Formats: sequence, C-alpha cells, structure tokens
Amino acid sequence: MEEENRIVTTGFTEEDRDVELKLRPRVISEYIGQHKVKENLKIFIEAAKKRGEPLDHVLLYGPPGLGKTTLAGVIANEMGVNIRITSGPAIEKPGDLAALLTNLQPNDILFIDEIHRLSRSVEEVLYPAMEDFALDIIIGKGPSAKSIRLDLPKFTLIGATTRAGNLSNPLRDRFGVISRLEVYSDEDLQQIVTRSSGILGADIDTRGSKEIASRSRGTPRIANRLLRRVRDFAQVEHDGIITAEIADGALDRLEIDRSGLDKTDKTMLQALIHSFGGGPVGLETLAAIIGEDSTTIEDVYEPFLLQKGLISRTPRGRIATKNAYDYLGLPYDINK
Ligand code: ADP
Repeated sequence: MEEENRIVTTGFTEEDRDVELKLRPRVISEYIGQHKVKENLKIFIEAAKKRGEPLDHVLLYGPPGLGKTTLAGVIANEMGVNIRITSGPAIEKPGDLAALLTNLQPNDILFIDEIHRLSRSVEEVLYPAMEDFALDIIIGKGPSAKSIRLDLPKFTLIGATTRAGNLSNPLRDRFGVISRLEVYSDEDLQQIVTRSSGILGADIDTRGSKEIASRSRGTPRIANRLLRRVRDFAQVEHDGIITAEIADGALDRLEIDRSGLDKTDKTMLQALIHSFGGGPVGLETLAAIIGEDSTTIEDVYEPFLLQKGLISRTPRGRIATKNAYDYLGLPYDINK
C-alpha cells in the first residue's frame, strides 16, 4: 500500500490540515508528553526572555507526526514572537532564503521543516546568518566582484528533521539546542485523544480513549486521525458516544489491530520471517520486498516496530525478535 493512503500514515493529508490547526496546542502547558524536551526548553525560553535576547537556534528531530511543527509554534507563543514557517525543499535558491531573512522582525522565529533537504548553496547563506546575524552578498561578476555584508535582525532558527544524521556537520554545529522527540507513551496519547475530543465536541469514555491511544503507533497525528474516524462510526452507527467497544469495532474495520499494526507492518514482519528466516536483512532488500522506499521504512515503520520490540537493528541488518514470532503465532527457535 502506498504510504500516504494508509490510515496510519504519519504524513500530512489534505483532511488533516484544517483539523490540525484546531487541535494544535498553543502553549507549553497544553503540549502533552516530551517531558525532558519541555523542561529544558522552559529554562532556555525563560533565560532568553530575561536577557531580552532571541532564543538560541533549536534543532528538533524525530519521526513525522510527533509534534515538531507544533512545538515550534508553542516556542514562538511562549517567547511572544512571530513565526515564519517554511521547508527545506521550498527554499530553492539562496535569494529565497535571503528574502525570508531580511523580512524577519527582531527576535522572530524562522521554522524550516525538513531542513536536511536544503541545498548546499542555500546552507551556505544560513551559516553567517545563524552565527553572526549577517548576510554576505556578492555584487558584480569576475575580478570586480565585491562581497558586502548586510546586518540581519537577531532571530531564532528552528529546524525540524526526521533524520538528524543527514544534516551536514557545519549546519548541525550551529544549533545551540538539539532535541530529540520520542515516540509517545499510551498514557500521553490517551491525554491527547481526550483533549482533542473536547475540542471536537466528541463524546468519549476513558476506555474508548485508551483503545484509540494504544492503536496510534505512539504518534499524536495518528491518534487524532483515528479519533475522527472512530467518531464517524460512533455517530452513524451508534448513539455518538465513543466507547471501547465502538473504537475496537471501528479500528478492526479500518484494519488496524490491537497493537496498532496495519497490513503493511504485518507484511514487513512476515517477509522478514518467512523469506529471510528472521534476518538479518539489509534495509534496501526489505524495501524492495514490501515495495516501499528505504527512507519511508526508516522514518515511519521502523520507529514503531522498534518501540514495540518486534524488530531490532543490528550492524548487519534488521532482525525479527521473539516478540515478532509470538505476535504472528509462529514458533521461535531459541538457538537462532
Ligand atoms: P511534525 O511536525 O513532527 O510532523 P506536528 O507538529 O505537525 O508533527 O503534529 C501533528 C499533530 O499532532 C498536531 O497538529 C497536533 O494536533 C498533534 N500533536 C503533536 N504533538 C502534540 C502534543 N505534544 N500534545 C498534543 N497534541 C500534539
């Protein structure tokens, strides 16, 4: 199945756009989970505000749908500054970035999603901007070319990436704060489902929110999407209240099982076990077998399967764990 067609896709769908705006936490107290990251940020934000300076540049990394964009918005709110949102692929030329930078107000935040996809030439404009709040512009061509330096307002860059490893060293080194967002616990997701139900005006009981939370792959974006689908079932086929039974029935029909795994996850585990004796299997081989690209496997499938302890990563490739055999009801050879 194409990644974007899965109900459990972590990517952004058309339908998500409007609803996510409503559901997005605005202040840090509404931002659920990620305690370590939040505690640190609170201190950095308070210190920067006391000094009347912009916050140091922040790099947020972790799988899609975990709340990187949301957190950037929360930081802007807490700092009381504007945020400009763009993405690596959208900044095509150095001039595009220069235009963004010169339009910032002092202390503003520039948020660049998928920052690992910036081109080399754009990155080079970013270095002096981040370090010295300056823009180096070349005027003229050939031997008479001159470089002049323009001052920029002091600003904060917040970069988000699913893969910190793909960032060049000079870029990574210029971030003062580097925070990794973790996959959410079921308890945190349950709080998110409850909060979102309140905003959407959906009736849900505790067991209903727990059921949705435990099947959301540790990802708030998926939890919110499943909540909306389950609400449809509750309203059309029942009296509107989301109970565990209704959530369970709806999610079964959406082919998401008790552990939050869908068909593609199962195909991957089955391929690993049936075609490769449980592994180790290289990422590219696995990608070819299930018809996905290796980036999607690394960013979307693996973090969840690793968290569930169904696969593990070794230097020689991915292996299916005993949990995976148990999950599929297959015998496990302990001498493996
Ligand atoms: P990312 O930028 O990492 O792909 P987003 O910031 O777009 O993820 O988050 C997706 C959605 O999940 C948001 O619209 C928001 O509704 C919800 N969300 C994310 N993190 C949290 C959180 N910590 N608390 C509550 N809701 C969250």
